[in-house]
Amino acid sequence: MRLAGKRVVVTGGARGIGAAMVRTFAAEGAVVAVLDRLAEEAGKLAAEVGGHAVEVDLADVAATRQATTTAIDALGGIDVLVNNAGILRFASLLDLEPHEWDEVFAVNVRAMLVTTQVAVTAMVAQRAPSFPGEVVGKVVNTASMGGKAGGAGQAHYAASKAAVIGLTRATAEELGPLGITATCLCPGYVLTEMGAGTRTAADVARWATKSPLGRLGEPEDVARVALFLASSDSDYLTGDALNVAGGMVTH
Ligand code: NAD
Repeated sequence: MRLAGKRVVVTGGARGIGAAMVRTFAAEGAVVAVLDRLAEEAGKLAAEVGGHAVEVDLADVAATRQATTTAIDALGGIDVLVNNAGILRFASLLDLEPHEWDEVFAVNVRAMLVTTQVAVTAMVAQRAPSFPGEVVGKVVNTASMGGKAGGAGQAHYAASKAAVIGLTRATAEELGPLGITATCLCPGYVLTEMGAGTRTAADVARWATKSPLGRLGEPEDVARVALFLASSDSDYLTGDALNVAGGMVTH
């Protein structure tokens, strides 16, 4: 029970990697609030794990602030924020329209700033560190190997994930003195709804060869590393971006 009694908010928790995180955290004793635009799926999962669901479109700043507050109120406070929601879009770089760029950045980066502002304000109001270096709250962000390795045809996605890595480091540096850690995960290839309509069997076979382990990631592979980052086992780890990619170093 590595998260016994911990109150955790997971964005994009209705499906895929986020849903695996919600189940993994709950199995380790956390009470979890799921923030997602998929109200029905989020509600079912919340009922399954004895948590809470809040419907929100994370592209909407005011709604995101409100939903984060609602989730924290439902939990009676917050110990860990997991910013996992993200969207993948494809466009050739020379044709990429500013509105396409903005759509991806709104969900993948701006929403993380907004939820972090609300959640960390609550964490800090709950308790100040009683000794230097004591951790009183954690932020875990989901970036991507795309944020390090780039990706042809997905410049906006890759740039947004590089921005998540930068936001995470800035969060760690600025909020560390308040007892807050910030880390991020860089998954490799995980077969979820994300990109489901665009990948072929040949793509999947080729991606598997990028890992020395010879397989793609499962949502649970990422969720177990997120558990480590959400738990006190990682209290002296902050600012870093951890690859969860089976050893893959490039696309
Ligand atoms: P997914 O599409 O299966 O799940 C994403 C979840 O986020 C869904 O529940 C969706 O409803 C929610 N979401 C998306 N936009 C939202 C919005 N505007 N408002 C509220 N909720 C919203 O994707 P996934 O593969 O589980 O991805 C989870 C995270 O992992 C993302 O940040 C993604 O970029 C990252 N990632 C995924 C992979 C992969 O191979 N699947 C690789 C690297 C990084």
